[in-house]
Amino acid sequence: METKTIVKQKTGMYENVMKQFNHAADVMGLNEGIRKILSATNNEIVVHFPVKLDNGKIEVFTGYRVQHNNALGPYKGGLRFHPTVDIDAARALAIWMTWKSALAGLPYGGGKGGIQIDPKNYSQAELERITRRFTYALGDNIGPDLDIPAPDVNTNSQIMAWIADTYVSTKSPANRHNNLHVVTGKPVGSGGLEGRDRATGFGVVATIKAWAQLKNKNLKGKKFIVQGFGNVGYWAAHFMAKEGAILIGVQDASGTMINNNGIDPEALNDYCQKNKGAIAGFPNVELIEAETFFGIDCDIIIPAALGNQITLKNANDIKAELIAEGANGPTDVAAEAILLEKGINIIPDILCNSGGVTGSYYEWLQNKRSENWKIEDVLILLEDKITVAFNKTLKTAEQYKTDWRTSAYIVALQRLEQTYIERGVFP
Ligand code: GLU
Repeated sequence: METKTIVKQKTGMYENVMKQFNHAADVMGLNEGIRKILSATNNEIVVHFPVKLDNGKIEVFTGYRVQHNNALGPYKGGLRFHPTVDIDAARALAIWMTWKSALAGLPYGGGKGGIQIDPKNYSQAELERITRRFTYALGDNIGPDLDIPAPDVNTNSQIMAWIADTYVSTKSPANRHNNLHVVTGKPVGSGGLEGRDRATGFGVVATIKAWAQLKNKNLKGKKFIVQGFGNVGYWAAHFMAKEGAILIGVQDASGTMINNNGIDPEALNDYCQKNKGAIAGFPNVELIEAETFFGIDCDIIIPAALGNQITLKNANDIKAELIAEGANGPTDVAAEAILLEKGINIIPDILCNSGGVTGSYYEWLQNKRSENWKIEDVLILLEDKITVAFNKTLKTAEQYKTDWRTSAYIVALQRLEQTYIERGVFP
């Protein structure tokens, strides 16, 4: 049963990103040669590596890193630890990173990877050995000016610290430079950036605020629901609550809950910290069927979990006026057509969740300059950058008379097209 779900998601994400890309390329009339270049991934690294478990047995793991494109700078993007990680998922997610970095105006390309595991099945010590051995297996395929991983689904600052330490420690003594910026999203004590933890959720809410301003709406009292209560879901809920919006529904792999009087994001987060990250068992909520989640009567939906969650199965049930894509690829192409037809606004993932990689960029700069930045400054820079990308997306949508996802792609693709036209193709 589980394998079936995995296969379905795998084909779905890659197909989706390519459909989105080809549609935008058609609308803007992207140069044919450049379309061919961007349709392919530059490098695909698959590693199999052994790790000794706590019980003394050996298990062999499979890890991936797909490097889609580096025309604008080093490959950049997260590593996820999840059963759905495979080559197609890594490809799709790497491609989304290229568009995301280009749209945000960052000097980065796109990469993504991870390990096909459910981290809940391993102890902390095992996860450390798995992470370190994966980093060792990737070797010089990653590097601070080559390919810079970051947190993603089920990976966090601790995992980034282990990667940085392993990367630096496994170089020969003469080459053991202070290359901690081989990864971003590190703990603050290890070169991490103040505010990187909340950067994605903060950015999601910055785009929702920009949307509210555009539509002359007030977020105060607006009801919203969040799918996934990990780093992105929690921080998005935290910043929405600060705007006076009310969280009324939450879903994760452990359950689906609703309370029309409001769920306190802080209390839920505290609960999750003590409950292995799961929301199940949180008090004073009503449990509902998982399939009915997106149909909850609310104003704003923030999918902040996995890809392909809003599909033909539930698109027609949606009553919200806005979907803000905190996750990568949460809405499939067929569902999007229905939502647009219904007049529902979608802030596309490559714009909506770009606060994460933008925060990573500031961390990388901070490390390169041997500085320590203040959180107040970081949040101002983040909001400015994401608002610029939001406005460019709107302007391009007007110019091409198209939806926001397509226009966000066009902004990204124009930047890539320009760089290829200026530099040509070697030799
Ligand atoms: N994993 C995040 C994303 O999907 C962050 C990537 C990064 O910071 O490099 O955008």
